[in-house]
Amino acid sequence: GAAAAAAARPKFIVNSPNVVYTDSEIRSKYTYRTTEVTEREDGVRVATPRETVYDFKVDTKLPKLGVMLVGWGGNNGTTVTAGIMANRRGLVWDTRNGSQAANYFGSVVMGSTLKLGNDAKTQTDVNIPFHDVLPMVHPNDFVIGGWDISGLNLADAMDRAKVLEPTLKALVRKEMAELVPLPSIYYPDFIAANQEDRADNLIPGSKACTAHVEQIRKDIRDFKAANGLDKVIVQWTANTERFADIIPGINDTAENLLKAIDAGHEEVSPSTVFAVACILEGAPFINGSPQNTFVPGAIDLAEKHGAFIGGDDFKSGQTKMKSALVDFLITAGIKLTSIASYNHLGNNDGKNLSSHRQFRSKEISKSNVVDDMVAANNVLYAEGEHPDHIVVIKYVPAVGDSKRAMDEYSAEIFLGGHQTISITNVCEDSLLASPLIIDLVVIAELMTRVQWKLHSEGAEAAKYKSFHSVLSVLSYMLKAPLTPPGTPVINALAKQRAALANIFRACVGLEPESDMTLEHKLF
Ligand code: NAD
Repeated sequence: GAAAAAAARPKFIVNSPNVVYTDSEIRSKYTYRTTEVTEREDGVRVATPRETVYDFKVDTKLPKLGVMLVGWGGNNGTTVTAGIMANRRGLVWDTRNGSQAANYFGSVVMGSTLKLGNDAKTQTDVNIPFHDVLPMVHPNDFVIGGWDISGLNLADAMDRAKVLEPTLKALVRKEMAELVPLPSIYYPDFIAANQEDRADNLIPGSKACTAHVEQIRKDIRDFKAANGLDKVIVQWTANTERFADIIPGINDTAENLLKAIDAGHEEVSPSTVFAVACILEGAPFINGSPQNTFVPGAIDLAEKHGAFIGGDDFKSGQTKMKSALVDFLITAGIKLTSIASYNHLGNNDGKNLSSHRQFRSKEISKSNVVDDMVAANNVLYAEGEHPDHIVVIKYVPAVGDSKRAMDEYSAEIFLGGHQTISITNVCEDSLLASPLIIDLVVIAELMTRVQWKLHSEGAEAAKYKSFHSVLSVLSYMLKAPLTPPGTPVINALAKQRAALANIFRACVGLEPESDMTLEHKLF
């Protein structure tokens, strides 16, 4: 790498023969315990405990990290950039409620904790910041850049977004004004026609081509060189596109997709072109919008290149509530029978979603989010049975970025009784999404430094490999989690968080978080 990467000093040490610390690595031997289920001829299920022993290896040297956002001049792009600036400089600004200091509320990595264990003397919980479980890049150290089809500098773009307090804007305006998005690719058929008037910063050409892929790759390399970066992570926070049709021979395999791009096929979206460029460049690419950027050919290409991808669609407000509440209802044994979800919002995202084909992408991504929880409960639901679920989104300019989500959940309780829960969720959309953008970057970067092998493969360093290209460990932050082909999707929020925490614990040789607390029950 260009920058002097220093090994981060661990914030705690695991005292176990299974964990070894070197100058540049944490190595752990971890026993993964699962249960295999078979069925006997008489129909009785047999559950057999199984163990797989893995070796994990985490590179502890933190890279100088670049983050490039596609849609940098949008509400999310400007808000996350100004927010990181405010944190980096420790800014405090005046509001009508008093002074407000910069923080990272809403970020799992920066704002939540993990239980490390129990205090040896008092037996009380010892909690550590999530950020400390393994060496992770601090968001204050991100170098941010990116592309936008609108050429407005970030100071003017943050005014257009109408998200931040004027007093905060005044403190970051000078620095924001120096940031100008790179020209981007614009294929008008993919986003709403109402976006056309902001498209003034374009790479020539209005359909996919190899020259576009090459330009994006060059932009990433130039950004890396100009800032002395070791690594770049790219994230799509640009407008929601319509779905691309999946066409055999066009976007079904890596080879066909590359050929289709070269031939200028009209069914290849800008987001897929960005994904392909990043995969070829070895820059992890995360899709924060709902469209099917990762057509089968793109996933195939990522697998072939061992490149990391993640998506789709930030899980910020309504869906995050839904994946917690429905999990609660169904695991409580209460039979959810319907969800009616209304949204209205007045920012540019809402304007784009007021167009039918773009709304449809969002509708799909918001609709499947309870499937796994319903399918898991074969006591309440018969095979194929489903709660009713509708999603409505309307554009109401006056509410701006302050999105309203109104949900009604109905459920059947004991002996035919009914429970109806109504929730009104008002939230500043970009202030919820920005910390997710940060978490996705920090965790994706960390995953590039984690390797594993089967312990039985011996000590040979060459046997270590990376996690699968599709980073399903990012699911907690995403509404329609992309998973390795053929593997299940988990939407339940508590399970997603447990997977995140427990995989990182395993990397330092710690057992999964157990809430048994036998030490407080058996004495
Ligand atoms: P926004 O409209 O303010 O910003 C999108 C930006 O992308 C605009 O500046 C636009 O000019 C730019 N753009 C469009 N096409 C582009 C292209 N091909 N290349 C480069 N730039 C392009 O929207 P936002 O509120 O920042 O949201 C961004 C995306 O994140 C949307 O798709 C939205 O659905 C998704 N999302 C947002 C949230 C949230 O809570 N804010 C949650 C989930 C998903």
